[in-house]
Amino acid sequence: MGGSGSLNSLVTAAAAELMAATAANSAEISQRVLANLVDALGQDFGFLRHNDHTIRATVLIAEFPPRNADPDPIAVVYFADADSVFATAEHLKEPAVVRPRPENADYQQTIEEGTGFGSVSLAAVPLLSGEVTTGVLAFGKFGDREWVTDELDALQAIATLFAQLQARIAADTQVRWLAEHDEMTGLLNRRALIAQLGERLAQGMPGPVSIVFLEVERLRAINDVFGQDAGNRFLVTFSNVLRDGADFPAAIARFGGDEFVVAPHAPMDARDIFAWAQELHRHLRTQADIRSDLFGRAASIGVATGVPGKDSASMLLSRADLATQSAKNARGVTVVAYTPQMAAKNAIRDEIERRLEEPDAANDLVLHYLPEIDLRTGEVLGTEALMRWQHSALGLLMPDSFIDVAESMPLAEKLGRLVIRAACAEFAQWQAEGLVRNAVLRVNVSPVQLIAEGVVERIAATLSEFGIEAGALCLEITERVVVADIEATRKTLTDLKDIGVQVAVDDFGTGYSAFDYLTSLPIDALKIDRRFIRDLGRDSKNLAVVRSILGLAEAFGLDVVAEGVETPGDAQALLALGCKRAQGFLFSKPLPGAQMGLLFARRFVSTDFLND
Ligand code: C2E
Ligand code: CA
Ligand code: CA
Repeated sequence: MGGSGSLNSLVTAAAAELMAATAANSAEISQRVLANLVDALGQDFGFLRHNDHTIRATVLIAEFPPRNADPDPIAVVYFADADSVFATAEHLKEPAVVRPRPENADYQQTIEEGTGFGSVSLAAVPLLSGEVTTGVLAFGKFGDREWVTDELDALQAIATLFAQLQARIAADTQVRWLAEHDEMTGLLNRRALIAQLGERLAQGMPGPVSIVFLEVERLRAINDVFGQDAGNRFLVTFSNVLRDGADFPAAIARFGGDEFVVAPHAPMDARDIFAWAQELHRHLRTQADIRSDLFGRAASIGVATGVPGKDSASMLLSRADLATQSAKNARGVTVVAYTPQMAAKNAIRDEIERRLEEPDAANDLVLHYLPEIDLRTGEVLGTEALMRWQHSALGLLMPDSFIDVAESMPLAEKLGRLVIRAACAEFAQWQAEGLVRNAVLRVNVSPVQLIAEGVVERIAATLSEFGIEAGALCLEITERVVVADIEATRKTLTDLKDIGVQVAVDDFGTGYSAFDYLTSLPIDALKIDRRFIRDLGRDSKNLAVVRSILGLAEAFGLDVVAEGVETPGDAQALLALGCKRAQGFLFSKPLPGAQMGLLFARRFVSTDFLND
């Protein structure tokens, strides 16, 4: 055993090695340093262990000579069931020396696993980070061995170097982790997922690569009503449920905000991913039922599939995103698979949005009109304006090819404004020509339009510009909007009522039940969705639904209009139930403005349907 000079050079040599170590080679370098020390100090073995205080255990990091035990009974030793030597590693603050004593026999056995050596001498020094013991560095020799202070000081200096390396690797790991994860939920972040998908979509990789894109529904409402903390708790709960739900290896990411992506590691075709997304959706729903906390309604889910060598990660993600947006708009259907038509729709939508910036955009807007009929007499009671878009290349577009892709604020708001103006202008024209008296003009409005700033003032101005009595205009809102933003909607509806404009709830009976709101909102009419009118003469379920809606309307003093009447049987069944107003292809298809004016002039459609 050399003097203090050789001890110093031992520390210096260890320092040179350990300071150059990185996360990648630290295990190898640590073992080499241990080997040098075992040799220089005349020891039989040495080991380095780290404390994992979260699981309360000491974990083997490096040892010399390697025992190569597999499985290794002392790779992880819980302090709770550790013998005295390992147990002291939890809070060791000073160097400790253990000399051969009978009560240490257990430890020798553990180390040697019954090889029957006699007793062992052990020197252990702590790895420290401030007040916390982060590990232990120890050397042992079979037989008795004295340790002098200089030696223990040198070991402590080396332990400090090991502790620094440990801290450096931990920080490095943390930084790396943060670069790839969403801190709040612990899921991957957008960048990491895109990188992974990019690798999997490289030429020659196994495919198809499929993903599930989820948008949680209630995040904004939760943030608004219960505060940011509640919103964050909700996101964490949702991520955990998502982890449980992904019952095979998958990359799970949060894309910030309310968007999540699950990418199963295994190749999956379109049919498999769709089936699995439905399972995931069921899992989310079940959890929503079980949990009493804020974990509310499920999510809109879209799936998409990419082919390695052909599609990029961003293509795959934007397809899944499009599918999710259409899941969001398709009430009742919650998993939607991407189709190329979605991209086409999106392109059309973008084009219309651009076109709306131009001053003559209104020229592209075309309104058709669907008459509303008195079932008893065939009298034309009113008309509903239905929007179409005259596209330069694609011809006349129906609303479902452009307004349902995304009810985004600027598009829906601008379009809606144009529709109300154009409908009022045409209606005023019919009035001026003496074609209409006492008829109602119905105009559909989108949810975002209703909560836009100054909407009621603009409508009032349009009505007075064209000299239309406010009571002749009825705005149709969907049930969905009523529930989505009840306070803003209530304000707008109340203001509309104040100026005399009527309001009808469109597609009544679909989506969420708005029954509760009927008592508190100023609504004038319900339009029964056409799915309940279909086969009304024969379908007893539909008959029951329509009967209950009529009862409800009567209780609240609301008008009722049946939509989508296609057969005489439907019309007769409605009349028998006491429903007097209806529209549908039985009476008329949507008509261009000029023809609608002529129908108003005639005042009646044929009532042959009553006799069939
Ligand atoms: P909606 O308000 O429920 O309008 C009725 C839709 O059902 C119209 O389709 C109409 O042509 C169709 N329809 C009417 N009777 C029958 C029938 O007997 N059988 C069948 N199969 N269909 C019938 P359209 O014009 O394609 O409009 C679709 C939806 O687009 C509308 O549903 C409405 O939600 C929306 N929409 C139309 N115009 C506007 C608008 O100006 N603004 C907004 N925000 N939405 C609009
Ligand atoms: Ca409507
Ligand atoms: Ca409708």
